[in-house]
Amino acid sequence: MDTRPKVVVCGGGIIGVCAAYFLSEKGASLTLIEQSSIACAASGKAAETKLPKYRGNPKLPSWLDGPVSRSTTIGTTQTTAQVHPQLFTKTLLKKAVEDYGVKVVIGRVEKVEVVEGRATGVLLEGGDVIEADAVVLALGPWTSKLRHLGSMFRVSGLKAHSIVIEPKEPEAITPHALFLSYIPSGGGQPLDPEVYPRPTGEVYICGMSAESEVPDDPEQIVPAASSIKALKRVAANVSSHLIEGEANVKAEQACFLPCTNDGKPIIGEVPDVKACYIATGHSCWGILNGPATGAALAELILDGQASVVDLTQFTPARFVN
Ligand SMILES: Cc1cc2nc3c(=O)[nH]c(=O)nc-3n(C[C@H](O)[C@H](O)[C@H](O)COP(=O)(O)OP(=O)(O)OC[C@H]3O[C@@H](n4cnc5c(N)ncnc54)[C@H](O)[C@@H]3O)c2cc1C
Repeated sequence: MDTRPKVVVCGGGIIGVCAAYFLSEKGASLTLIEQSSIACAASGKAAETKLPKYRGNPKLPSWLDGPVSRSTTIGTTQTTAQVHPQLFTKTLLKKAVEDYGVKVVIGRVEKVEVVEGRATGVLLEGGDVIEADAVVLALGPWTSKLRHLGSMFRVSGLKAHSIVIEPKEPEAITPHALFLSYIPSGGGQPLDPEVYPRPTGEVYICGMSAESEVPDDPEQIVPAASSIKALKRVAANVSSHLIEGEANVKAEQACFLPCTNDGKPIIGEVPDVKACYIATGHSCWGILNGPATGAALAELILDGQASVVDLTQFTPARFVN
C-alpha cells in the first residue's frame, strides 16, 4: 500500500512543475493536472532568466548594426545565465515523472473539493474527482477564474507579445541579451523590448504588454497584429541580420503574466481552506523564482514550515481582512 501523502498540483506551468518536482522528490505521491499542455502559456513563451551586474562603456557586438545612441553592460558570461523556459519546464517534469513517479493528467480543474474546511481533492470538468491530502493551485493568470479564489484576491493578466527569429547566419549573433529603450522613428512612447539570442541559434524578442482579458483556454490566446508588427520593426532596426526575409520568423505569439494587486507573488495556504495551497503572481520573474517557490512549498506542505524561503510576505492571508 502507498502510504505517501497524496498531493494534487493544478497547473502545468513553471510554478506547478517546480512544485510537483520538489514535492515528489520529498516523498509525496504526486498528480499534476494541466488543462491544455505542459508549458503552454507564459512558461513556454517567456524570455529567460538573468542575473545582472552593472558595468559601463561596453564595446557593442558587431551584429548590433542599428542606430544605437547609448549603451551600458549589466552582466558578463561569468555573472549571467540563460534558461530556455519551455525546455526547462518540460525537462524538470520529465525528471519528476521518471525519478519520482509523478502522474500527469490532462483535464480542467473546476473546483477544489472541501469537507469540513479541509481540501480533499479536486473536481475535473466531466465529473472525475481526484482525491488528495493536499491541493496546490498554480494556475497563473487563470487563478481568479476558479470559484472561491476570485472573491478572495485578484490575479490579473498582463498580455505580452514575442517573436522568435531564425537568422540565416546564426553564428554571426553573439550571446548578448539586449534590454532596449526603443524610441519609434515616427514618435510615440518609448518601448522596452528585450532581445535574447539563444544557444539554439534563434533570437527571441519580447515586449509590447498591456492588461487584457484572459481567455478560458490558453490555446485561444492570439497576438495583436500591431504588436507583432512593432516587434518585427524593432528586430529590423536592431540588426540587419534580423530583418524579415533575411531571417525566418518562426513564431509570433502572446501570453499572460500573472500579476497581483501589490506586485508580490501569493504563496501559502488559502486562509479558510486547510490543505489547499496557492502559488502564483510571479509576474515577470516566474522562471527565475519557480524552483525556490517549488522547494518552499514542498517544505511548507510536508514539514509544516518553509526554511529555504521566508514566505511571510507572500502569504495569501494579506488579502483577507
Ligand atoms: C514576454 C515574457 C518574458 C518573460 N521573461 C522572464 C524572464 O526573463 N525571467 C523570468 O523569471 N520570468 C520571465 N517571464 C515570466 C514567467 O514566464 C512567468 O512568471 C511564469 O511563466 C508564470 O508561470 P506560472 O506557472 O505561474 O503560470 P503559467 O505559465 O501561465 O501556467 C499556468 C498553467 O495553469 C494551467 N491552468 C490554468 N487553469 C487551469 C485549470 N482550471 N485546470 C488545469 N490547468 C489550468 C494553464 O493552462 C497553464 O499551463 C516572462 C514572461 C513573459 C510573458
